[in-house]
Amino acid sequence: MKIVKTVREMQQLSDKLRENKTKIACVPTMGYFHDGHVSLMKRGKELADVVVTTLFVNPTQFAPNEDFEDYPRDFERDANLAEAAGVDILFNPSVKEMYPDGYNTFVQIKGVTDKFEGQRRPTHFNGVATVVSKLFNAVKPHIAIFGQKDYQQTLVIKQLTKDLLFDIKIHVAPTQRQSDGLAMSSRNVYLSTEQRSKASAIYEALQQGITAIESGEKRRKIINATMQNVLRQVQAFQIDYCSAANAEDFDEPEEFLPGQKIVLLIAAYMGKTRLIDNAVCTSPSGISPNPEKFIEDHI
Ligand code: AMP
Repeated sequence: MKIVKTVREMQQLSDKLRENKTKIACVPTMGYFHDGHVSLMKRGKELADVVVTTLFVNPTQFAPNEDFEDYPRDFERDANLAEAAGVDILFNPSVKEMYPDGYNTFVQIKGVTDKFEGQRRPTHFNGVATVVSKLFNAVKPHIAIFGQKDYQQTLVIKQLTKDLLFDIKIHVAPTQRQSDGLAMSSRNVYLSTEQRSKASAIYEALQQGITAIESGEKRRKIINATMQNVLRQVQAFQIDYCSAANAEDFDEPEEFLPGQKIVLLIAAYMGKTRLIDNAVCTSPSGISPNPEKFIEDHI
């Protein structure tokens, strides 16, 4: 695995790969790898000839009161994990390399950022959109892979790619979880043993939300309350948001329509640690998947 530190070298490598018709996949990350990151890298290996993983803790997506300084970092460990996952190039620029003196350009994303993460972290997605645009221009990939774990981010990246005419196909890979359902996250290391044992209530809340929807519940407030009740049983949790919304545009109708794609979104604090997770499901269409059974039930 090659480690690249400068944009210039990265671009030159990608130009050569492209001249040779080599398909490049990019996996943007902030490092401190876990199996979620590894699954994205492996997906990249399946979809392209060469995988470039970018490892950059991007200061512009953190607000001043957030954990940029404390964000976990371990380059040696990450390099070993990336190599074992089959990554070909690890692009690891410095902050100065990405934002040199005099840097003055920022990408602003509207609409899809209005609610949930975008509302709670008003500068976050502009930082994400800015750095991902720069990483795309540095790596020049054919495809890029993002995790469903950051659901709103996947919609932001799709909007960015479309609006700024990046000729890059965006793939979304499923969330990898611990055995109790807790979504893997670099930030899970902040949790004490006791907090960690309670954190999987987020997954339980999502499961109960899905069960309610699959049982035919269409009222958004009831779905939200079902999930919130699970979280409220864990005193240590402070809910930031816990809501069902239209999975395409985050619209929040009183009632979901049959067949509508719904995303369940949760952000909650466990002590100082902010955890996010989500699940996507479809409101039952009312048409039985088994027509014979449907007829039996209705005659
Ligand atoms: P991060 O390093 O946390 O910025 O994440 C880098 C990429 O990995 C993003 O596309 C995330 O959505 C994705 N990711 C983070 N956690 C998981 C997970 N548990 N499962 C799958 N993908 C993940």
